[in-house]
Formats: sequence, structure tokens, C-alpha cells
Amino acid sequence: MTALYATYARAPLAFARGEGAWLYAEDGTAYLDFAAGVAVNSLGHCHPRLVEALNAQAARLWHVSNLYTVPEQERLAERLTAATFADRVFFCNSGAEAVECAIKTARRWHFVERRPERFRVITFEGAFHGRTLATIAAGGQDKYLEGFGPAAPGFDQVPFGDVEALNAAIGPETAAILVEPVQGEGGIRPFAPNFLKTLRQVCDDNGLLLLLDEVQTGIGRTGRLLAHEGAGIVPDIVAIAKGLGGGFPIGACLASEDAAKGMTPGTHGSTFGGNPLAAAIGNAVLDVVLAPGFLGRVRRTGLHLKQRLAAVADAHPAIIEVIRGEGLMIGLKCRVPAAEMVAALRDQRLLSVGAGDNVVRLLPPLIIDDDEADEAVRRIEAAAAAIEGAMEAKVSEAGR
Ligand SMILES: *Cc1c(COP(=O)(O)O)cnc(C)c1O
Repeated sequence: MTALYATYARAPLAFARGEGAWLYAEDGTAYLDFAAGVAVNSLGHCHPRLVEALNAQAARLWHVSNLYTVPEQERLAERLTAATFADRVFFCNSGAEAVECAIKTARRWHFVERRPERFRVITFEGAFHGRTLATIAAGGQDKYLEGFGPAAPGFDQVPFGDVEALNAAIGPETAAILVEPVQGEGGIRPFAPNFLKTLRQVCDDNGLLLLLDEVQTGIGRTGRLLAHEGAGIVPDIVAIAKGLGGGFPIGACLASEDAAKGMTPGTHGSTFGGNPLAAAIGNAVLDVVLAPGFLGRVRRTGLHLKQRLAAVADAHPAIIEVIRGEGLMIGLKCRVPAAEMVAALRDQRLLSVGAGDNVVRLLPPLIIDDDEADEAVRRIEAAAAAIEGAMEAKVSEAGR
């Protein structure tokens, strides 16, 4: 029995503590954490720099509201804008809120540009943008929309990566395109090379804003601070969250000066958003992620992991179809049900996350070393062998 909403199918497993890429269950069993709280624990568990920043700020000041200047928040915004395309930042507490802010910012931009009729946002099949009423409409997935009344209006969805359908969907009310550079919940689905460039062009040709949902891909996950940097484009608005707080809830909406120009005093707000405690921790995450060499190491470790996993896929073609992804955002597209693979990996004490398109996601802390990557590969190999063994046992059982 539980007093909680029954919204999650939880594994019967509770953790008592964590250190780096490792989690320890209540009975002391060690798990290698390649789930990282769904791409949140970017620096692993209890990173000394984060513990220090949290303790120092906790002893000083937690929350004052946005009625006052918050120096830690100003500093985090300055650092985020210095490191990215953005000129302006709005802080909130989650990914869905960051995406909501992106959508509101885009609509307001058209409003102040004297095109208030433009409010519709085009998204792609397989997208995930959060669980608020607007973001489930943006994501467009029936399983998240069912039973919650009419979907919020203003979202049009086109097939994954389909430029022709995209162009056909643009009308006089279209305001923006919203896309994840790599679909996360959708199954680590990257778009074709140059697709983001095409989207930028389509936006420019039609007077639309390009909104990127980097809630999962952002803060170094793909080996770049923001994933779109690898595509050589400049977006108008980007939502980030997950990895930004390393486990502390914080989200942010980044925008160019022009895109943010409609967000004038009183148009948007958040009680908790960017409070001193959250901002201090966000700053500590950036201290580590922006340190020279950090992102290069994420790219190298990711490449190493992907190459080794490709060999595992070759050796177990009945279990793993293909390996895909970038940096430390890696998907194993499975031939057996992904949930079965996640369970088999958990039996090997490796934590992973299921996703759409029958994919198992590996989202380790960005601080893992090659030894931890190799250990994960051994456990994945063992899980694949265990499933094969169980399949063979079933076949021989049926043959008897
Ligand atoms: C997780 C996620 C969200 C939602 O973030 P929450 O913090 O759960 O609201 C939105 N978009 C993407 C791409 C995500 O991965």
C-alpha cells in the first residue's frame, strides 16, 4: 500500500546513498547508475563541488522571491548567456516550465511584432516536452493526453523529420517550430544531419521562431554545452533543465535579445524560479561542466562507450538491433522488449531508462571514466547473454 498517486510503475528498489556514478541500496548493494535520475545527475551523486556549494548557500540564504535582485541568479544568467547563443534567461523549476516559457516567449514575440494571430507551434511525432497541459499538447502523444479534456489548442504535429509535411503545416497562424535536437523519451532518435539547418532556414523563410527543447540534451549531455552547437545553427529560444541543477530542481529558458523582447514586466513569473539556493547550485554545475577539457572528455568517453557497445550489438543481434546517440546520451534499440532489457540490466546492477521506439537509454553521469564505461559494457553483455540463455531454455522446454 502507498499513499502516493499511482502514476509511476516503480521498481521495488530504494537507495540509501550515492557517490559518483554509483548508488547503494538500503542493503548496501552497489548499482552502476547509467540512469542518472533521467539525465539529471550530470555530475553524479554528491559531487564534492555541489555538496560544498549547497552547504555554503544553505547556511547563507535560500529564497527571497523575484521581488528582489538575486545576485546568484544574475551570475548564472550571465554565465549561460556568455557560453551560448542567448542574451536573456528566465529561470523556473522544471523542464516543462522551461518549455512553457519558450512557447509563451514565442507567442509574445509575434504579439509585439503586431502579428497576434500567430500562436501555433509545430512539433514532431515522437516528441516529449513535459506533462503540463500545454506541453502534453505539444508532445502530441495520445497516451499522455487521454482523459485530460480537450488538448490545449495551438499545436500541429508532423511526422518525424518530414520537411515536406512541415512546410505543408505552416499557415498564417504558425508562430514557431519546437524540436528536441535528439529525441530523448522518443528513443534517442537523432534527426538526419543538417535537419536543424533546414529547420533554421524554414523558420527564416516563414518568419517563425526556432524553439529547441534541450531539457535532456543540454548541459553537456551530448558532449557540447547545448546539443545544437554541433549542428552549426543559432536558435531563437532554448529550454533547459534536467542536468542544470545536477539533482536540484532548476530550469531555464534561454532566448536571444530579439526573441525575448515581448517578455516585459508582469508578463511571466515564477515564485521559486532561480532562487539563491538553486542558482548557487546551477553555478557550481557550470564550474565543472565549463572547466577546460570537461566536454571534450564527455565526447571521448561517449565515443569509446558507443564503439564498445556496437561490438556487443554485433555479438548479440537477437537482443540489440542498433546503438545510437551522441556523447553520453546513448540508446540501445532492442529486439526484445526494452522493459525486459532494463530489468535484465538491473539484475546485473546497472541502471538504465526505457524509452519509446523500444529503446533502452544510457544516460550516465558526465563524470564517468573509461573504467566505469567498460564496466557498464560488461554488464550489458552479461544481461544480453542472460536473456539469450532464458530464450534458449524456453525453446528447449517447448521442444521437449
Ligand atoms: C524531461 C523532459 C521534459 C520535462 O521536464 P520535467 O522537468 O519533467 O518537467 C521536457 N522535455 C524534454 C526533452 C525532456 O527530456
